[in-house]
Amino acid sequence: MPNYNKKLNSILVKPAGPDCNMACKYCFYLEKSELFPDSRIHRMSEDILKEMIKQVMHYGEQQVSFGWQGGEPTLMGLSFFEKAVNFMQESGKSKSIGNGLQTNGILINKNWAKFLKKYNFLVGLSLDGPEHIHNHYRTMKNGKGSWSIVVDKAKLLLDSGVEVNALTVVNDYSVQFPEEIYEFHKSIGLNYMQFIPCVETDPENPNRAAPFSVSSVDYGRFLCKLFDLWQKDFIDNTPTTSIRYFDSVFYNYVGLPPPQCTLLKECGIYVVVEHNGDVYSCDFFVEPEWKLGNIMKDNLIDMLNSESQGKFGKIKSAIPEECKQCKWLKYCQGGCIKDRIRDPSDKGLNHFCQAYKMFFEHADEKLKKMADDWKLQQALPEFNQQIYIQENQENTRKIGRNDPCPCGSGKKYKYCCGRFN
Ligand code: SF4
Ligand code: SF4
Repeated sequence: MPNYNKKLNSILVKPAGPDCNMACKYCFYLEKSELFPDSRIHRMSEDILKEMIKQVMHYGEQQVSFGWQGGEPTLMGLSFFEKAVNFMQESGKSKSIGNGLQTNGILINKNWAKFLKKYNFLVGLSLDGPEHIHNHYRTMKNGKGSWSIVVDKAKLLLDSGVEVNALTVVNDYSVQFPEEIYEFHKSIGLNYMQFIPCVETDPENPNRAAPFSVSSVDYGRFLCKLFDLWQKDFIDNTPTTSIRYFDSVFYNYVGLPPPQCTLLKECGIYVVVEHNGDVYSCDFFVEPEWKLGNIMKDNLIDMLNSESQGKFGKIKSAIPEECKQCKWLKYCQGGCIKDRIRDPSDKGLNHFCQAYKMFFEHADEKLKKMADDWKLQQALPEFNQQIYIQENQENTRKIGRNDPCPCGSGKKYKYCCGRFN
């Protein structure tokens, strides 16, 4: 096999395309059905599933991971995922395989929970917080709130021993309640949390952000408060909860490449496979311009290393003037390019720029101290059992068993992907 610059170690898959059994008011992916007008229902065929897995096993690194997303991937039914796992076992005997399932939880039942536990799936469950916050936008198709169902499903998963992250969208309403959301997640056992700030273009007026989007200053306050809550729960200088953004920023503070693509210099390090085998540059750019090919005709490693994907990756590094002068650039990297274009009034600067500045002003000293402590700890012989892993990009780097896991789970490497070594 030629020596490819970008290594294939993870892909995102949308087996049911944009289809969903809910109708959240802020969802950006439902409208993607316009891209696939041939059918009203979108489902990945067994042939495409097989070919995709075969290619990942053939071209992928020793550790590979599949992120199953949507729309709502559980619409495929459990038997689809049983087949997927069988194909992985057949064609990936020598690999360490990770699976992540991002779900709204509605269809989860005991059989799903058993399966997810058996095959060590890491589940990202969409839950925006307590009832009044979650139900504000996360509604079923009949307009009713989904909170009580989702909380029951969270409990079922946790009771079954499944590892669950809470995926929480921060919108114009929820941004007022950082403490309530954080304490609620903890109270039901969701100690791993990922917060996703919401900004979408207003369909009524494409010159501004949609009303449910969160403003930069509000999100800045939210992040600062969350950081304090996270720190308050430290025991012996060690976090007892995991907030993905803080974990990822911490990588930048200790000089390691962060697992979250928004904090990297360039994009284009993974690809997305849609239900019909079409492959795109990024979850947020499933658009004709960024279609790289189709899995039944092209191969994944070539698409990942293609000129188009290279061009996509470089968009991020063309940062606005304000970022060039900014003292936080080395930690922030200008954020996600999606957030630079959704609200035209931002004029190419990240919609959350102000939020990031507020956050770094607030947290910088403490993060630096944590990074210094961590480096000292790494120098101790008992903490120094390091191994090498192949990065997504060109380089190989050292990871200690006690480092945060590069997959972004927020756990120590030895309790996560490092279990396989
Ligand atoms: S556009 Fe955003 S989500 Fe997509 S690869 Fe770039 S930083 Fe990541
Ligand atoms: S904080 Fe703002 S100006 Fe600074 S790098 Fe981030 S987006 Fe750019």
